[in-house]
Amino acid sequence: MAALKRLVDRLAAERCLPDADMLALLACGDGEVLSHLFARARAAREAVYGRDVYIRGLIEFTNFCKNDCLYCGIRRSNARACRYRLTEEEILLCAEAGYRMGFRTVVLQGGEDPWFTDERLCRIVRALKAARPDRAVTLSVGERSRESYQKLFDAGADRYLLRHETATKAHYEALHPPGLSFDRRMQCLADLRAIGYQVGCGFMVGSPWQTPADIARDLAFIRRFEPEMVGIGPFIPHRDTPLGAFPAGTVEMTCKLLAIIRLLLPNALLPATTALATLDPRGCEKGMLAGANVVMPNLSPPDAREKYALYEGKASAAGETADALSDLKKRMENIGYRVTIARGDHRSFPDGEAALTRKKGEHDPCTT
Ligand code: SF4
Repeated sequence: MAALKRLVDRLAAERCLPDADMLALLACGDGEVLSHLFARARAAREAVYGRDVYIRGLIEFTNFCKNDCLYCGIRRSNARACRYRLTEEEILLCAEAGYRMGFRTVVLQGGEDPWFTDERLCRIVRALKAARPDRAVTLSVGERSRESYQKLFDAGADRYLLRHETATKAHYEALHPPGLSFDRRMQCLADLRAIGYQVGCGFMVGSPWQTPADIARDLAFIRRFEPEMVGIGPFIPHRDTPLGAFPAGTVEMTCKLLAIIRLLLPNALLPATTALATLDPRGCEKGMLAGANVVMPNLSPPDAREKYALYEGKASAAGETADALSDLKKRMENIGYRVTIARGDHRSFPDGEAALTRKKGEHDPCTT
């Protein structure tokens, strides 16, 4: 076990590991080694962000989607999904209620819904920024053209979440229908980076057919691309999808990967995701103790929250009431952390400016 602990130390010092060593760490289930890994990850997180926990108010504004990803409960072919769209006014009201509770970031998340044209989405982004200029707007609305991403950025969007899903092309093709392309996904991430967004990628832990080698490739991609945010959560099957019979990923592996990603990218903003909390009532705490520093409570209206079922049994990281937020604050305090009211930008975007400290196009995941 001493050798594996040394690997953890090496990862912490050098922010990378040779593939064989990474695979050895991924295979390790020894409690002592994992405790060491988590302690190193917490130290790395605290050196950059202290003990602050950033909160993002999530608004799931549409569950219409033109795509048919094989794992997703709101895929186009799922006739049992009960579809909804929030109106512009509802979105602004949810965001305003969140702001009054202390949320300085709003995350607009939805399926790829053509009803939300550039014009409509830009209008919403502009209204959010006009109402509260100190609020960050994060979008998570899938693949769009570079022109569309640019328009949304120009309208005021600060950040964009687009999980890469898997860095292994064959695995990507197994999880998606023929119309969706791995190369296109990577191009979207490159476009977002070049435009100047704070960019988030990520993947499901334990997705069908995922191998340790696939995970090692995900980690290598994340290290290379250096996203500002990384969203990972356990795969959770949805019975109304073609992959509904596959087993779920695990909390243990997700926490291990959170810790490894923290050591690969000490400056990253890493959420303890809702999927983690769905599998374990203490998933949020476990994620934090493995190096995460972001929580995304749900500000969507309760009936919308139920219908936005990407997977089954989705937990509500409740943030819609002052009581729920106060409960979250207490839970974080119990593990030595502190929920903070701040935009919580990545360290290379000081004071919330979309300061292009990197030159446009410098990091291109397709070419590096
Ligand atoms: S994963 Fe996203 S793009 Fe794919 S079907 Fe679900 S909502 Fe649509």
